[in-house]
Amino acid sequence: MQTDSTSSIERLRMRTRILVVLFLVCAAVLAALPLYGQAPPQPESQSQAQAQTQQPPEASTAKPAYSLPPEKLQQAIDYSRIRVILDFLGSGWGILQLILLLALGVIARMRNVAVNLSKSRWVQGFTFILLLLLASTLLDLPLDLYGHHAAVAYGQSVQGWGSWAWDAAKSLLLTFVFGGLLVMLLFWVIRRSPTRWWFWFWIPAMVFVLLSVFVAPVLIDPLFNKFEPLAKTNPALVDRLEQVVARGGIEIPAERMFLMKASEKVTTLNAYVTGYGASKRVVVWDNSITKATPDEISFIFGHEMGHYVLNHIPQTLVFLGVLLLVEFYLGYRGIQWLIARYGARWRIPSQNDWGALVVLLLVLAVLSFFSEPIVNGYSRMHEHEADVYGQEAIHGIVADPQTTAQQSFQLLGEMSLTDPNPNPFVEFWTFSHPSVSSRAAFAAAYNPWSPGQHPKYFAK
Ligand SMILES: [Zn+2]
Repeated sequence: MQTDSTSSIERLRMRTRILVVLFLVCAAVLAALPLYGQAPPQPESQSQAQAQTQQPPEASTAKPAYSLPPEKLQQAIDYSRIRVILDFLGSGWGILQLILLLALGVIARMRNVAVNLSKSRWVQGFTFILLLLLASTLLDLPLDLYGHHAAVAYGQSVQGWGSWAWDAAKSLLLTFVFGGLLVMLLFWVIRRSPTRWWFWFWIPAMVFVLLSVFVAPVLIDPLFNKFEPLAKTNPALVDRLEQVVARGGIEIPAERMFLMKASEKVTTLNAYVTGYGASKRVVVWDNSITKATPDEISFIFGHEMGHYVLNHIPQTLVFLGVLLLVEFYLGYRGIQWLIARYGARWRIPSQNDWGALVVLLLVLAVLSFFSEPIVNGYSRMHEHEADVYGQEAIHGIVADPQTTAQQSFQLLGEMSLTDPNPNPFVEFWTFSHPSVSSRAAFAAAYNPWSPGQHPKYFAK
């Protein structure tokens, strides 16, 4: 529930960082769902907070709804700080490395290699993309290695380096193939419509995004993690969850509930909703089942069901689609301006040049960084709605929804080493979910069945 639908925006964004992306952009959208299951699953309230301003709540005798014992607290503060630094450093380095590659003429040289290799545009395009991806992967490697090292050192990941590298290789290959196809299409559209390509390319880009969101749970995610029907090993839990489903007045057949064997790679808890139409499903990580009580799992599931029932995935796709169009337009304007100003120095004469892809990626990387608070603010709104829904959904099924929800957040926070006192700016900029402290406090206080109150999503 931490890393669910919108949450993985950050995941994917972090990993695709530069990589690729036109696709960064597309990625922002793809990321809306645990698309390329690739990201070594991260506890996603991730990018938590920097905790220099850490203060115990003053003069309060009441225990806060979410708190950590002293030694865990220090670990959480340290680990959160590492995550925040890696997050911002990653964004900054992603932008800087593109500028360096352009300014040092590396991009022009890659372009020359590609163009001299063959007259075929396909060969040229894919060669250029391969060189770019390799350079970007190498440049990102120190931060990526350190990130995984820290996750292991702080007990968040149990994934060995071999498996980690294999996951990275698979992501790279997927990016090469699908990113390559998108780039070929982009340049074809640019040649056809030099001033309106930002709009014409947006249409197939959205189709691509919709398709990949649809097939991801079936074709992509299984490349990175093992899934099995939840009912196979946990029939009693499925029965319990079906009670929650029934209370929601919807149908999620048992065949759409899956167990993901996350414990092979991470120690954190999670559940998420992914896909749509025929591929729509709920996924619960095995860690959640071993570490949480059936009541807590019911709440976590209820939260996911909230995303499902409240149509957060389609809404997010529309929201990010609009954002994508704006970013493409600004990308178009940016590329014109940058090439007019620096094209000679970078030896990139026009937007038809393969090297112009990197200029576009640069503009998009900057836009993507500055749109982070918007996307995350939108995501936090959905997450809060899902929290409310989840708590209301377990009413009458668990004895005390308030305590169950609050304890679920306590457990999630402890397992993910979440800092109880995140820096507000970091929260505003990077959190795809409200802070665990505020979610736990809300849960402990939320009782729509008290006199004069009404549940928001349920009749009673
Ligand atoms: Zn959620």
